[in-house]
Amino acid sequence: MNISVVLKENRKYVTLQEKIMKKILPIFAILLIFGCKTNAQETKESKTYEVSKTDAEWKAQLTDRQYHVLRKAGTERPFTSELVSNKKKGTYVCAACETPLFKSEHKFKSGTGWPSFDREIKGNVEYSTDYNIGVARTEEHCGTCGGHLGHVFNDGPRDTTGKRHCINGAALNFIPENE
Ligand SMILES: [Zn+2]
Repeated sequence: MNISVVLKENRKYVTLQEKIMKKILPIFAILLIFGCKTNAQETKESKTYEVSKTDAEWKAQLTDRQYHVLRKAGTERPFTSELVSNKKKGTYVCAACETPLFKSEHKFKSGTGWPSFDREIKGNVEYSTDYNIGVARTEEHCGTCGGHLGHVFNDGPRDTTGKRHCINGAALNFIPENE
């Protein structure tokens, strides 16, 4: 094979590669766009909340349990929060920023070991989708500071909303009525 044949072959190969790249690149671009759109966590992180603090500031302000749940979207072990059996009248506020999130009149006994409510205080709680356990779940977080609260499920009381807001007690503080 002389040098001109080698060059020709090479050129053929390069053109073929270019053709393939031209076909593949748009597919990659589409995947990239959709990949970002389905990443709810990313949207959540990029939002600026009314109460925004650095990770170090949150760590200093919150207890280990609160930090793990609110800032790291952790889940406390069931039946570990004293709020599970709390029957007093009052308001449940965000443990990080004190935004009122749930009312005692909407609390119900779910038997799950986590404080459960059939509805939130409208406008103060935001929702996203997470895939942390491999399936899509509706995650809920404080609309003021972005702190993770828990998840919403559709197996709540049928005679009211049918929703079960399964909330970590560590994410909440309870303010009794008349105080
Ligand atoms: Zn908050």
